[in-house]
Amino acid sequence: MGRRQTNGQDPASPHQAAPLAVAEMLTADIFFELAPDAVVVCDEQGRMERVNRQTETLFGYARAELSDQPIEMLIPSRFHARHTVHRQHYVAQPRARPMGAGLELYGLRKDGSEFPVEISLSPVTTLDHPRVIASIRDVSEQRALERRTRDSLSTLLAMARALIRLPRDAGQSDVSHVQPAGLAQRLAELVSTLLDCRYVGILRLDRAKQPDEAETDGSAHLYSLAVVGLSHVQEQQWRTALDGMMFESYVPDPAQRARLWRGEPVTLDLAQPHLNELPRLAEEFTRLLVPMRVGSGQLIGLVVVSYTDSARLASQADTELALATAQLLALVIEWDRLLAERQTHRETEAHLSILQAVLDELPTGIYLVRGYDARLVLANRAAADVWGAGWPVGQPMMDFLDRAAVQIYGPDGHLLTHESLATVLAVSAGDTIRQHQEVIRRPDGTTLPILLSAVPLDSKIFGASEASGTEIGQMEPAALVVLQDVSALKEAERLKDEFVALAAHELRNPMAPLKGYADMLLRKAGAESREQRAELRETEYEAVAAISEATTRLVELTDDLLDVTRLQAGQMHLVREPHDLLALVRRVTRRLQVTAPHHDMRVRCDEAHVMAAIDQQRMEQVISNLLHNAVKYSPDGGDIEIILVMDRDRQQVEMRVQDHGIGIPVAEQSRIFGRFARADNVRVRGITGTGLGLFLCREFVKLHNGAIWLESLEGHGTTFHVTLPLIPES
Ligand code: ADP
Repeated sequence: MGRRQTNGQDPASPHQAAPLAVAEMLTADIFFELAPDAVVVCDEQGRMERVNRQTETLFGYARAELSDQPIEMLIPSRFHARHTVHRQHYVAQPRARPMGAGLELYGLRKDGSEFPVEISLSPVTTLDHPRVIASIRDVSEQRALERRTRDSLSTLLAMARALIRLPRDAGQSDVSHVQPAGLAQRLAELVSTLLDCRYVGILRLDRAKQPDEAETDGSAHLYSLAVVGLSHVQEQQWRTALDGMMFESYVPDPAQRARLWRGEPVTLDLAQPHLNELPRLAEEFTRLLVPMRVGSGQLIGLVVVSYTDSARLASQADTELALATAQLLALVIEWDRLLAERQTHRETEAHLSILQAVLDELPTGIYLVRGYDARLVLANRAAADVWGAGWPVGQPMMDFLDRAAVQIYGPDGHLLTHESLATVLAVSAGDTIRQHQEVIRRPDGTTLPILLSAVPLDSKIFGASEASGTEIGQMEPAALVVLQDVSALKEAERLKDEFVALAAHELRNPMAPLKGYADMLLRKAGAESREQRAELRETEYEAVAAISEATTRLVELTDDLLDVTRLQAGQMHLVREPHDLLALVRRVTRRLQVTAPHHDMRVRCDEAHVMAAIDQQRMEQVISNLLHNAVKYSPDGGDIEIILVMDRDRQQVEMRVQDHGIGIPVAEQSRIFGRFARADNVRVRGITGTGLGLFLCREFVKLHNGAIWLESLEGHGTTFHVTLPLIPES
């Protein structure tokens, strides 16, 4: 801070150190008495020879009390020793200088109170002996202001530091509620109480980018954040004049603007003619502009301190305070922006994760790409299942396919080029693609037929891409793609084809004898002779028997097919009632034994009755199917045993149907209950069938809450096990 220098009019100025003429002495005397500071003339020993009126006022002594007293009388005793040394040293090398440079000096009043002083010393050489003139100024007020400024500065800086060290999660922070506008108002109030100024204003700049050398910064606009020190009407005027004003108009000098962009304060002397155009209050003459810059050096606003003095240079303390205010505000504004950004980011993430969760539950594969290189935005689990690999978000489609070794083929089996992929067509050409067939070859070598639909999206939905650094305003294409795994459909189609072939074949088989015998009957009916007529009756019998058998097979086949259809449509409804399963088994066995003379069927059970809640018709179908198979697949005949075992603990009955026939190859046992499933060994032997019987058995048993499984050894025979729940014995 500035030390006071003696001025030219001081009677003890070094420039006037020569002996004084009488007139000059007189003039000097008047100035001596009128000086605003206390002035004390001392001899070499530090005794006070003369003091002025201000000395009396300041220290509370009468002149007589001070006369011839050591100057130390005016200084607190703790400084005496040091002061005496200083004084002697000064007398040896006298020159005009402030005393105690770098020290806080104090004066001592008569009443014992102390006050801060600044002392300037000047040597005076008169005829007889040298003297020293000390001029003493009370700096209590100045010190108090300095202390307040320092305190405020350190408070501001402490706040700033606290803000810098905010916890990462701002949601839990105490200062998260600090709003830039509110804080700006509070800081402006603080600055205006501390500084002797007309008003303090805080302005924001809407452009945070430092212009290039060549570029004009005129496009930045100002708007007011806070102002303190104006009347309500003036404040309105100030805001109206400033809001939306160009930075270039507010600070017309490009050099000054450049300094502000660089972070340096600027003082505008509004009395300068070229600044005449600037809006200003009548009593406003000087304006201190302090830049508000964020960490990256971007200028985001100004702190304006306005003074009523003309051509005033803002003091160091004023500038420092304004700078600290600007720094703190910039920090808060930046922090606020980060908070808002983080909040938006969090909300977006939350939305995305909900969307992702919903999408993941969908059975259809869905993914979203953007950009001509089709970078992934999001994909659901079903899509990842289709590819058999995870496609990282942000990766272009081509990179993903290459790295994950996923290949995409057209329906004709040709590997598709990048450009012909439906996804790429949707983003690059904006085509809507519906039900496009592709075959995906996954990293593990398996292939999957898919149907793909791709819809180009309005790129405005996404706004500009940050990921690719695209300039704001430039939109990227995007597409939503839906994948459907159609392997189940294809399988169904294959089964349907197979079924049609099989049905045709199976229907033709019984038709051949039907037609043959019918033709023969017709032919014989036309014959004339008696022998021929007799022969006809015998042949008639055989033919009708064959026709009847073929018709039965046709009816059975048709019934089976109808049952399959009903089961698949979920329209098979059982009528379950208590029935004696044992009686049912015996009845079916008796019926089938008649048609199987080479087999010996035996039913074994330790019980008299086995009561179960069953749909009699469907259970009869199960039993006769199993028995029929036992006969059919043991072409060499042999025993067939049907065993019923009660398991009262588990409240169920187990039925076993055991034959000693050709058996089922191990490799085919697991799929033998499937629709149309038939083992190889029966095809080889030319034993006909549809592969529907066991499928129906399993479905019917399941509808009864039972279970069915088999044990079989090829060439040795097969045992089917069926369990059914019993009716609890009450
Ligand atoms: P179908 O007998 O009309 O072919 P099923 O569904 O009744 O159809 O049987 C499916 C297949 O299971 C048969 O084709 C046969 O390969 C095998 N199979 C069923 N029962 C036996 C059995 N008792 N012994 C050997 N193989 C059997």
